[in-house]
Amino acid sequence: MDKRTYFDWNASAPLRDEARIAMVNALELTGNASSVHAEGRAVRRLVEEARSRVANLVGSEAKHVIFTSGATEANVMALTPALEFGGRRSLRDRLFVSAVEHPSVRSGGRFAAEDIEYLPVNDDGVVDLPVIARALERAERPLVSVMLANNETGVVQPIAKVAEIVHAAGGVLHVDAVQGPGRVACDIAALGADLMSISSHKLGGPQGVGALVTRRDIHIAEPLVRGGGQERGQRAGTENVAAIAGFGAAAGATNLAEIERVALLRAQLDEGITAITPEAVIFGADAPRLPNTTLFAVPGLKAETAIIAFDLNGIAVSSGAACSSGKVQASSVLMAMGADSGLARGAVRLSLGWSTTENEVHEFLKTWKVLAGSLLKERRGIAA
Ligand code: PMP
Repeated sequence: MDKRTYFDWNASAPLRDEARIAMVNALELTGNASSVHAEGRAVRRLVEEARSRVANLVGSEAKHVIFTSGATEANVMALTPALEFGGRRSLRDRLFVSAVEHPSVRSGGRFAAEDIEYLPVNDDGVVDLPVIARALERAERPLVSVMLANNETGVVQPIAKVAEIVHAAGGVLHVDAVQGPGRVACDIAALGADLMSISSHKLGGPQGVGALVTRRDIHIAEPLVRGGGQERGQRAGTENVAAIAGFGAAAGATNLAEIERVALLRAQLDEGITAITPEAVIFGADAPRLPNTTLFAVPGLKAETAIIAFDLNGIAVSSGAACSSGKVQASSVLMAMGADSGLARGAVRLSLGWSTTENEVHEFLKTWKVLAGSLLKERRGIAA
């Protein structure tokens, strides 16, 4: 295949070399991490090294990291009424989630549908703090889930302020921080999160592994996956050691310095798109955004047409819209932001990462100029 430009890092980042090497080395080992013999202990060492690195990534401690099959599982695991603090059960009576959460949070985990409330966002996709404070008055022991950064728009939420409100109301805060590491500060204590979900494949580790990280001595009283006592009784099943080792290596390699260059490239992209198509709307442009993400739409342009056209030109981008049963639906994130549904159906997401080059940005803009001209002309022709 000719050289491709990959602008879909929020869906999955390329595997880092460090992760590949760690995984291959882990695959050479024989043994179960729960076995007491030398082989088992060697495998256990890999798992615990990875645990420390993942804890480090978010400023937590190794004992507060529970490995899961990914952030989807971590989210569902965290969203349970049955939490324990220091060995004492403290049932959560109501779940509040922001309207722009990933589907694995929006579905409410293990809460009954009638106990879930959705917190609105403004036109820029940011939660409304006074609205949260008022909503929490409707519960005695709320659990609140607000994401650090949105996967579609890149909009970053004021998590530390949300945490203050949640804690003042006697609540517990879960943060889906999947899109954060390496792009925005993710220190669990500075953010004030009590529970945090992260995913390996968004930071250059393998797919199918993630973690639920806790700040305090919080326990999930009823594990999602029950069986053996792995992960301190929080998540049963023999550990996916190679994936965990790769996750740990990727976490160790992740750093915020990489994003500075990416932020400049994203600025070039935004400027270029606006220069070529002045009618383009960049969603969440007035809010704090991840430095690697741009979600944009041009009136009259269909996302699926644009994505196929980019793909044929060697560029991988993603749609902000969801396709179910063959019908393209506007993204629920953009609907929650009050976007026009026709415009939202045309949203195209560009997400960059540490190996993105200036040349790729130029190639994208060159292609966009040609595509925008022909796609929009075609569209106007049909409409006329
Ligand atoms: N939350 C967010 C914000 C995400 O972007 C994703 C991945 N698209 C997930 C959760 C789910 O993560 P995983 O793929 O590890 O299940």
